Amino acid sequence: MKRFFAAWNRVDAWLLRDRLQHAGIDSHVFNEHMAAIVGDVPPDVASPQVWLADEADLPRARAVLAEWQAERARTGQRECRHCTEINPATFDLCWKCGASLT
Ligand SMILES: [Zn+2]
Repeated sequence: MKRFFAAWNRVDAWLLRDRLQHAGIDSHVFNEHMAAIVGDVPPDVASPQVWLADEADLPRARAVLAEWQAERARTGQRECRHCTEINPATFDLCWKCGASLT
């Protein structure tokens, strides 16, 4: 087991875990209900954490994390090439017709 990521909240921790799972990387979320004790212990200790089951997955997990963070940093809008609908930049699929926006 290898600690991989300390999330700001449990939703982020689970979103990252889903991403890793999708990439075939086994991971676990710990501390998801510890936010109430931030202040009594350092936030780094109490924040939700994602741990890798196998440390050998670390390079691949870092790539998944980098891609996820890049996607979340996207701003603005994208036009669907299929139906010309305007979508938020964070969408991968057109909300109207379902075509890929990437
Ligand atoms: Zn479309």
